[in-house]
Amino acid sequence: MAVLEKLTSQQAIDLENKYGAHNYHPLPVVLNRGEGVYVWDVEGKKYYDFLSAYSAVNQGHCHPKIVGAMMNQAQTLTLTSRAFYNDKLGEYEKFATEYFGFDKLLPMNTGAEAVETALKICRKWAYEKKGISENDAQIIVCENNFHGRTTTIISFSNDPVARKNFGPYTAGFIKIEYDNLAALENALENNKNVAGFLVEPIQGEAGVYVPSEDYLAKAKALCEKHNVLFIADEVQTGVARTGQLLAVNYENVKPDVLILGKALSGGAYPVSAVFADDHIMEVIKPGNHGSTFGGNPVAAAVAIAALEVVRDEKLAENAFELGELFRSELNKYIETSEIVNLVRGKGLLNAIVINDSEESETAWNICVALKENGLLAKPTHGNIIRFAPPLVMNKEQLLECVGIITKTLKEFE
Ligand SMILES: *Cc1c(COP(=O)(O)O)cnc(C)c1O
Repeated sequence: MAVLEKLTSQQAIDLENKYGAHNYHPLPVVLNRGEGVYVWDVEGKKYYDFLSAYSAVNQGHCHPKIVGAMMNQAQTLTLTSRAFYNDKLGEYEKFATEYFGFDKLLPMNTGAEAVETALKICRKWAYEKKGISENDAQIIVCENNFHGRTTTIISFSNDPVARKNFGPYTAGFIKIEYDNLAALENALENNKNVAGFLVEPIQGEAGVYVPSEDYLAKAKALCEKHNVLFIADEVQTGVARTGQLLAVNYENVKPDVLILGKALSGGAYPVSAVFADDHIMEVIKPGNHGSTFGGNPVAAAVAIAALEVVRDEKLAENAFELGELFRSELNKYIETSEIVNLVRGKGLLNAIVINDSEESETAWNICVALKENGLLAKPTHGNIIRFAPPLVMNKEQLLECVGIITKTLKEFE
């Protein structure tokens, strides 16, 4: 087949529909360029990106420093596998562990892989350090969690669309209500075999649910009391998104195990990692775990650059300030709104809840209208719309976006 001439949006959509599995339901917009807070469709229309690839592009699209590091490394050495050492991985491991304050990291590629890795580390720690008898370890998880799409991870999801007809499921998980300390205490006290508690500091996919103040600190204390690993999945909340480098920093919590992905590479390349101190990470020995691409030199170079950008451009501080402004501006609008119930979030991870049923099309229709008005966002669950622009946004741009959002919402009042 000849290489196609420049496609129209409809042609690109038709190709995906015909030749790709239908595992997503995208908004009908076809992008072919991105820079900073903007993306362009194939017809040349410019949009503000208010999804940032689910918070992978915190540093903005095609950040020159990140792309430069990637190109430089791609021309030098791309992949050795871990059968041999490469001269970038150790440098990255030193940089990233010092950056986040842990002894060691284990490099993987995607968020789901890093979650899987954390679960495996936790189980092995339970048998070799805590003394739980083999195959008895339990890990506590929260209702409405989102940790990825592997068979084990969907085994403890309670989203029927993610689970149905993918069984049999992996055993060894106890599900409790999110943001419920009594439920956590109860689960810990009634089960001697708990190895870990896996939690999102803010539930992003579920609809940007921010737990009560102190929830994380108190949950961490309960885990300590019961010698249970506190495992923070910061794949979405981490790397400055919520206005702190990590969302757990708001409560001065240091997780026993930290999971990062998405913005760890600024969206340039799949890079994820699990961080832990030596007394935990040392349970992993040669042959126990691995990934052909995990820790490759391009990933290492990209991740260093991505983390440098976050620090040098003060993205956490910017996300904090712009987040306050965003919520206060939207709250002014909501005072007299019939269509929006509330705005919630931290930093630049926010969501509005639409005043309609979960089954309604309203949130989707609002996102289509936002697209027409030059801003891209996507409903999370039914009636909730997440707003998560790149963190390199400035105040003028944010206020312009608030204008687009409120103007669009007015069309639905
Ligand atoms: C996106 C996400 C994951 C999964 O990451 P993938 O790279 O899509 O596998 C895991 N946990 C959380 C909290 C996420 O938001």
